[in-house]
Amino acid sequence: MSCFQITSLGAYLLGALDPAERSVFERHLNTCHVCREELIRLAPLPGLLGQVNLADLELPFDDPDPYDNQPLPPITALRPVPDPEPRKSRRTLLLVGAGVLVALLVAAGLFIPRMVEGDPVRVADPSTSAPPPPTWSAMDGKTGVGASVAMVSHGWGTEVRLRLKDVKPGLRCMVVLYAKSGTREVGGWWGTSDTDGEVIPGSSSFAVDGIDHMEVVADQQVLVTLRPPG
Ligand SMILES: [Zn+2]
Repeated sequence: MSCFQITSLGAYLLGALDPAERSVFERHLNTCHVCREELIRLAPLPGLLGQVNLADLELPFDDPDPYDNQPLPPITALRPVPDPEPRKSRRTLLLVGAGVLVALLVAAGLFIPRMVEGDPVRVADPSTSAPPPPTWSAMDGKTGVGASVAMVSHGWGTEVRLRLKDVKPGLRCMVVLYAKSGTREVGGWWGTSDTDGEVIPGSSSFAVDGIDHMEVVADQQVLVTLRPPG
């Protein structure tokens, strides 16, 4: 099953929709599991979710009867007075953005299938002077959930590899990164399985040393908070 509105998803993630288009698409997102699953699938892509307001992702989902999924009016119909020139250049930009997104998707599909513990893990080359990626771990006394995260620095920000322990299967989780500057980003979404120690990939536009702490959240509840040691 597909949805014709899914073409707006790339623009939405890239922050290229204007406020009216954005709110139309967000309303649609709230009632369409096709677009929502695609949104979740795109979540680990670098920096993209930095564009999405966390509050939007926390909205409760209430899908109506799947057969009652009425198409919304085309976004173009809602646009008030056209201003051809800037619009044109933005559309071009948007198309470029969509192309980049497709390329990222292809890369993501190839490179982010989940790794299970026991898979070969990149080992730091002792001949380089770069410090090993920082790893934080924590266990929450209340929820009983343990977590560890390894952070790998990239030009675009930070790749995170999260491992959870003793988490209930079937939860929809996200990792929220808090920067020292006070801003926050969603680093990734996933559904939990009963495979303990599964590596969950995520990413953030924050630099490694700019990250203050992270929270693993499910159903608006913090399962565990990760902070630097010491
Ligand atoms: Zn849809």
